Amino acid sequence: MYRFASMLASIVLVSATASAQTDYPTRPITVLVPHAAGGPTDTVARLIAESMTGTLGQQLVVENAGGAGSTVGTARAARAEPDGYTLLLNHVAQASSATLYRKLSYDPDAAFDGIGRITDVPMTIVARADFPANSIGELIEYIRANKENVTYAHAGVGSASHLCGMQFMAAIDVPMTTVPYKGTGPAMTDLLGGQVDVMCDQTTNTTNQIKAGKIKGYAVTTRERLAVLPDLPTLDESGLAGFEMTVWHGLYAPAGTPKEIIEKLSKALQAAVQDPKVVERFADLGTVPVPPDQATPAAMDQLLQAEIVKWKPIIKAAGVYAD
Ligand code: ASP
Repeated sequence: MYRFASMLASIVLVSATASAQTDYPTRPITVLVPHAAGGPTDTVARLIAESMTGTLGQQLVVENAGGAGSTVGTARAARAEPDGYTLLLNHVAQASSATLYRKLSYDPDAAFDGIGRITDVPMTIVARADFPANSIGELIEYIRANKENVTYAHAGVGSASHLCGMQFMAAIDVPMTTVPYKGTGPAMTDLLGGQVDVMCDQTTNTTNQIKAGKIKGYAVTTRERLAVLPDLPTLDESGLAGFEMTVWHGLYAPAGTPKEIIEKLSKALQAAVQDPKVVERFADLGTVPVPPDQATPAAMDQLLQAEIVKWKPIIKAAGVYAD
């Protein structure tokens, strides 16, 4: 009798789980963005969430949890129930943090199942609107003359803006004073207010501000100029040979999320990267979505693992750790 009852209980349990997966999603899904609201990653997340909401028939709600170069929000996502109702959208910091932070409470690779890649966003070197320099050449000259009197805003150690700034300062061989924020959303507010001088940030945060003349744009970090900001030279053509940086973004679920759910989310992401509204908004912001065959769990896992391997020797050689 006991065996029959427990058999029955497990059949009921199995079929309940199976139907939960088939019916998924039956309630809103939280997308944790481990950067501050109003910033470039947040912008990418909101556009993707809106498109996936249409496909999945349930609201994808973006929640910002910025701090410590994305590790605060990512730790929260790693602890979440692997039921498809909490996701993580992060950029390259998912890989660089694996080496930069030696005391993480989670493993940036093992704690997550990839859903898919989203976009590789170019970056721009920018400054407050009344900054004296009017070209990238003048900017470099000004920094050389004023060194640590120039302030550089970034989103915390290991963030994309921090990595770009480190690379830029190494290329011109002059340090600036770095000022950390919870994301480049709030950093942009201070740049607009004139409280900080210079920043390197994704085009998804800077394009509209440059075009409106609210900040100065000097150069792009891609090998080619961008159609959306055609007057900005590349750093490579401006004398910093080989300078290149784009910020890849990916969508993840906590490890152990049922495969059927990951598949459903990935299909919705593949639809999002082909959604004409997303393509158009991304183009306005200087970026393009990945092709749909890259918005897959396999492509995401492969990229994350390759990037963790790539950043490890770079960070170890620099000997700079966040903790
Ligand atoms: N642009 C930020 C970074 O430097 C992230 C953000 O605020 O979205 O990583």
